[in-house]
Amino acid sequence: MNAVRLTLLFCCLILGWACSRSQEVSETRQWMTSTGQIKVLSTTAMIDDIVKRIGGEYVNSLVLIKGDLDPHSYQLVKGDDEKFKIADVIFANGLGLEHGPSLKYNLENNPKAVALGDIILKEHPELILYVNGQPDPHIWMDISMWVRIIDPIVAALSKQDPAHAEEFKNNGDLLKMKMTQAHEEIYLLIQQIPSEKRYLVTSHDAFNYFTRAYLADDQEEDQQWQNRFAAPEGLAPESQLSTADIQWIIDHLSKYQITVVFPETNVSRDSLRKIVSAAKEKGLTLRIAEEPLYSDAMGPPGSFGDTYLEMVSHNAIVIARYIMQ
Ligand code: FE
Repeated sequence: MNAVRLTLLFCCLILGWACSRSQEVSETRQWMTSTGQIKVLSTTAMIDDIVKRIGGEYVNSLVLIKGDLDPHSYQLVKGDDEKFKIADVIFANGLGLEHGPSLKYNLENNPKAVALGDIILKEHPELILYVNGQPDPHIWMDISMWVRIIDPIVAALSKQDPAHAEEFKNNGDLLKMKMTQAHEEIYLLIQQIPSEKRYLVTSHDAFNYFTRAYLADDQEEDQQWQNRFAAPEGLAPESQLSTADIQWIIDHLSKYQITVVFPETNVSRDSLRKIVSAAKEKGLTLRIAEEPLYSDAMGPPGSFGDTYLEMVSHNAIVIARYIMQ
């Protein structure tokens, strides 16, 4: 690439960044302006999508962790303190997802914060999965789990705006029906994959709930369905791969005759590349799917994946397509 093309590429990147930054600033300013609506701050876009559908015109909502930023390690940046002060309600995923120290501190010490996953853990501890003794926070990956955040959101919004409580409840009930239908459709789609091929390998440990809900055979025991999902990186995509990690995943790929691994939009592909290279040295056939899955972030605006239900549908369609090839 010559110097002129490099300069042009650099200018385009700067321009793109500046446009998205300016859009973000204007969105935040609009949210901070007094509109008479309930000001809701949600840590992730997956929560925000549900809040908007329940709160409709009575809610002015903002996402804290935008785009492909990693919710596991997000730390507060300049301006976030003010968002915490201005918000009437703050919805968080909980279950240890938001463990960046400054964000964790602000959520734990904030009476306006509602940790939705922690409510599910309290009411239905049997539904929560654990990885190495830690609660797995990726509950949005199973629509039948994510439906459970609707009631706490309806309750919190109704407390802020009792005059529209009935509307919030009706919106929540409609959404429950829509989500339950989507859950069943995704289950049927994934179950079309023959049981012996229904194995998933992705970059980080985000798909345990997805696996239990959709990849598992009916009545399959824990130890059996858990073998259907493996990821070289742990619950938070920040760990370095050891030789033992690579060997373990190579043995797993070989044992279950897995020939495709799936990247995730917000996680580096380095781990998967190392695994493919190690697999080739062992004579295994393995490739990385060209289409990444959405794990800890939804798709960009305008994509099939920019809403919560589309995000999960996208994942199901891509997984079924590549495994069935
Ligand atoms: Fe994650």
